[in-house]
Amino acid sequence: MRVKIDYDLCMGDRNCNKVCPEVFEYDEDQMISRVLVDEVPDHLEGLVRRAADECAPKAIIVEE
Ligand code: SF4
Repeated sequence: MRVKIDYDLCMGDRNCNKVCPEVFEYDEDQMISRVLVDEVPDHLEGLVRRAADECAPKAIIVEE
C-alpha cells in the first residue's frame, strides 16, 4: 500500500498524526501533514485506512 496527501485539501488538524504517527508527520512550517514512508508497512495499513476515513476533507489518498 502507498499513501499520499493532497496538500491543497489538507487543513492541518493533525488527526492523521495522532492516528498513525509512524506514517504521518505534521509540518509545523507549512501547517499540513506529510507522509514519511514510501511503502506503508503491513502492520500499519489498518491505521492508515482509518486515518483516511477520518480525514474530514478527504485529503489522504490510499493506493492499494
Ligand atoms: S487528517 Fe487530513 S486534514 Fe487532518 S492533517 Fe491529516 S491529511 Fe490533513
